[in-house]
Amino acid sequence: MKIKTLALELEQMAMQKGWKEVTAMIAPHHHGDLLESLDVTDAAEFARRLANGEGCISCGTYNADSWHAGHYRTTAAASQLRFHHDNIHLQCHSCNVHKSGNIELYRINLVKKIGETRILSLENNNDTHRYSREELSTIRATARAELRALKQLVAV
Ligand SMILES: [Zn+2]
Repeated sequence: MKIKTLALELEQMAMQKGWKEVTAMIAPHHHGDLLESLDVTDAAEFARRLANGEGCISCGTYNADSWHAGHYRTTAAASQLRFHHDNIHLQCHSCNVHKSGNIELYRINLVKKIGETRILSLENNNDTHRYSREELSTIRATARAELRALKQLVAV
């Protein structure tokens, strides 16, 4: 189960489409925070689970006010990689927002994580792909199912 990427995708989707659309598939009552929708009270614990034991992809911190879906190649530059798992990693607010992705450190740590070959394939990926309604609904259906599993996991 790809819990980490699922949560990141949901957050990224929310950034693109707004929480209103995303939360409709998560919970009936939502206030703009994935943590709330998951009924997780300990944000640090949630972040730890989200990163599967890892911290921010760029600076490595385990403590952040908020966590973002950090895209190695931005959705503006490479929208075809928006949902590509190699392209999305947990990132702290400081790196994501204030350091424009902190991309130099991002790359260094990404090499350690997925290897040079897979990074090059991201960097050389210039496919233009527009998601169809069907593809998006498949992605959402998968996310919905995995999110249910995630809720059960964090409820333990
Ligand atoms: Zn960071």
